[in-house]
Amino acid sequence: MQRSLLPIALVLAVATSSFAGPPAAEISRLVDAEYTSLESLYRELHAAPELSLHEEKSSARMAAEARALGWEVTEKVGGYGVVAVLKNGAGPTILVRTDTDALPVREMTGLPYASKVEVKDANGLNVPVMHACGHDVHMTSWVGTARVLTKLRDQWKGTLVFIAQPAEEVSGGALPMLKDGLYTRFPVPDFALALHVFSDLPAGVIGYREGPLTANIDTVDILVHGIGGHGAMPQNTKDPIVLAAQIVLALQTIDSREIDPLDPVVVTVGSIHGGTKHNIIPNSVKLQLTVRTFTDAVRQKTLAAIKRIARGQAISAGLPEGLMPEITEADHYTPMVMNDPTLTRRLTGVFREIFGADRVRERPPTMGGEDFSQYGRTEQKVPICMFTVGAVDPKKIEEAKQREEPLPSLHSPFFAPEREPTIKTAVTGMTAAVLDLLGTK
Ligand code: ZN
Repeated sequence: MQRSLLPIALVLAVATSSFAGPPAAEISRLVDAEYTSLESLYRELHAAPELSLHEEKSSARMAAEARALGWEVTEKVGGYGVVAVLKNGAGPTILVRTDTDALPVREMTGLPYASKVEVKDANGLNVPVMHACGHDVHMTSWVGTARVLTKLRDQWKGTLVFIAQPAEEVSGGALPMLKDGLYTRFPVPDFALALHVFSDLPAGVIGYREGPLTANIDTVDILVHGIGGHGAMPQNTKDPIVLAAQIVLALQTIDSREIDPLDPVVVTVGSIHGGTKHNIIPNSVKLQLTVRTFTDAVRQKTLAAIKRIARGQAISAGLPEGLMPEITEADHYTPMVMNDPTLTRRLTGVFREIFGADRVRERPPTMGGEDFSQYGRTEQKVPICMFTVGAVDPKKIEEAKQREEPLPSLHSPFFAPEREPTIKTAVTGMTAAVLDLLGTK
């Protein structure tokens, strides 16, 4: 193309542009050319979801897709992790991550490609499986981005490290991949990127957040002891069901009475199990908690308060020292995703340029969690950024608003991303982001 023939306004736009890649029109043309094939890949992945730590076929598919593009592929990195590397001369190294796992949810979308998958759990019971968190969109976009960047390889220099990470839903994929040498056996990235679809953002729109995006997650188990006996003779027992109920309610005072109201914290008791029959007071009750925070100080204070309250309630119920509640914290927690502010600002500029300012929106942080955080917490201190991609038909968002009904959220059996604009926006956005970071001119 002869630049001297370009209209002056366009020359100015290019000259002042921060985006260093090929023209947006060229990226869109390549994305459009891939779309039919990407949509059929999406349908296949959607119909064949696999639970966390069982992503055998999904990861093999990601490996095969990257291999077909001529990338160097290593499988079984930290479980079912895949690392695909494309070296293309001297330049920056950019990591792009997809997650690969699905959820134990029975799909109710009624779509022709809906999942009918059921697997047996450890007890031999049937468990339905569904891509209810959009990781199938992430995998499809990862493949799409790899294909477009491969086609554009004569326009950039550097190294791409595309990783397909298992077990995101159980926060058990990123750390195993890092421990299995992600930053020692493979090139260390200058930047690490990921995207996540969102169920309250219109398809075609990109969401961003500088700084904290998702919360710290701690998982806590409380075994509440009691002294069992006959349900008709409570005077001879210490009832752990009543005690557990008191603990559940008292835990709610951590958020409302102990922590600064300007510091977000969630203490949810998501599971309570005890007893076998109407007229038997059991010996114990099990509680399972998820704890969400945004700072180390609030995290420590909340975890300490849980222990103190559980013990205090047990003392108040008259239990002897040997029967105090047993509290177990999971041995690792999922730290918050801290989007590097400089990197995020840079990418937001790229998105505004590619999509227009009206398709780029700031997002509030969420109390949800993501183990993508781990890629920025090693000694290399890699700047990370996860951005969000809208997945819902804007008309449906409007209708839901008018009916004052919530839309199906992530993890809902009715979650059904608006395929074409969601996948195209994801691939275009990620491709433009990577090209900008590669610094092509
Ligand atoms: Zn997810």
